[in-house]
Amino acid sequence: MLMLGSALAVGAILAIVTWLLFRELGTANEAAVRSANNVVQLIDADVQRNAELYDTSLQGLIAAWRRPDVMTISPELRQLVLFDRATAAPYKGDLVLLDETGRIVADSTSLTPRLDNFSDRPGFQKHRESSSLALVVDGPFLSRWGFKDLCISFSRRLPSDTGQFVGIASASMRLSYFNQLFRTLDIGPTSTVNLLSADGVLLARQPDENNRTFVGQNFSMRPNFKRILDEVNGSFAAVSELDGAKRLYTFSRVGDLPLIVVVAQSQDDVYAVWKRNALLVAGATGLLCIGILSLSWLLGRQLRLRQNAERELAGLASTDGLTGLANRRKLDQALAQEWARGMRSGRPLALLMIDVDHFKAFNDRHGHHGGDVALRSVAQTLAASIRRPGDLAARYGGEEFMVVLPETDKAGACVIAEKLRLAIEALPPFANDTAPITVSIGVATHLPVTHDLPGALFQAADRALYRAKRNGRNRVEVGAYDPPSAELQT
Ligand code: GH3
Ligand code: MG
Ligand code: MG
Repeated sequence: MLMLGSALAVGAILAIVTWLLFRELGTANEAAVRSANNVVQLIDADVQRNAELYDTSLQGLIAAWRRPDVMTISPELRQLVLFDRATAAPYKGDLVLLDETGRIVADSTSLTPRLDNFSDRPGFQKHRESSSLALVVDGPFLSRWGFKDLCISFSRRLPSDTGQFVGIASASMRLSYFNQLFRTLDIGPTSTVNLLSADGVLLARQPDENNRTFVGQNFSMRPNFKRILDEVNGSFAAVSELDGAKRLYTFSRVGDLPLIVVVAQSQDDVYAVWKRNALLVAGATGLLCIGILSLSWLLGRQLRLRQNAERELAGLASTDGLTGLANRRKLDQALAQEWARGMRSGRPLALLMIDVDHFKAFNDRHGHHGGDVALRSVAQTLAASIRRPGDLAARYGGEEFMVVLPETDKAGACVIAEKLRLAIEALPPFANDTAPITVSIGVATHLPVTHDLPGALFQAADRALYRAKRNGRNRVEVGAYDPPSAELQT
């Protein structure tokens, strides 16, 4: 029971700890999504602010260019008018005005526009084919001038009264801006921040592991990107197509720009703290459970040892040391118990008082040691001759024994007494004796009722024994039960 109780307690502890750890795992996941969302929102806000700056510059350029008098003023003044709102946005590239053929007609970098044609740029072609005046983000592409690094461009179609395509205003932004922005974010050593164009081209990625640059690659056919494009804002866990690691993707579209920010956190980063805590808690719980089980086992063992010792002591307290039969104490208990049981069941109780004949002389012949050996063999014969569960053979004292026979009437008791007498007589003569040991037996039976006492039954057996001695020994005599006097009863 103790071990079962401990096992149940240990089971309950393990169940609670497992449940708590799983709940913590969910919390770690939620916290990771929350922090990734914050990062995404931060980038979103910063990119939007910059895009607005670029757009303001573009709109300023378009507004100035539409003024009819802009072509009549001096080139220096025109340069100031056209590009005064070209703010010093970080990582700003060139701001140009292209005509319908893609040729540069106004250039923020020089008074005389560079001789270049951007009609090959997809952004330019997009404006040419669509009449929409919305902002178009194009790239990434390698800048042909200036820093000659990767850029994206923001462009707007020049409005015309006839609706005809007359050119575009375009501003380029160096992608190192995003790398710089992403580098300031603390997202964990194995997680990445990515910026993709809505077409699926990776524009920036931090950190760019092992110098494997994925920037410029098109991810539009990858399932993860398709899902990002479908859901616009959100978060999901999936295996990365780049490094095969399981990642938690949190993503958002940057305002209404065709840009998507994706924070890809590795499971290692997301669950690092949880893993450390889980290991600690699991280790401590394991030790606690082992401790509980070991202590229960030790306690159980001590209890068992104590129970055995108590049982042994109880046995010793009720056993006769010489013969191994029940002792006088146990005999008194059994007699009182069977007397009470007889009163309840209405069945008679029989008592045999057995005395070894001429034992004093036996002792004289064989010494006390020989007498002890003979007493043991008489006791064994008595114990072996009574078979019913309630029957009890006890040593009353000296060479006198008693047998209690519950639910036995006079006839039955006489049969058993005679059987005992014959069994002892049948023992082989001791040493050089010619005759065997014999016993005299006094039998008394009585149906116990209220006001009767076992003592009277005892006296009846004793009287019968004396009669057996008087009548020649080695015989059975039956005694009559005398109801106890009123004096005795009190
Ligand atoms: P009777 O037939 O009349 O009973 O004769 P008896 O000699 O048996 O009668 P008595 O009661 O006078 O003698 C009993 C003897 O039993 C006395 C004692 O020496 C012996 N005796 C009693 N207890 C022990 C014992 O534990 N060991 C041994 N060896 N002898 C014992
Ligand atoms: Mg005697
Ligand atoms: Mg005797």
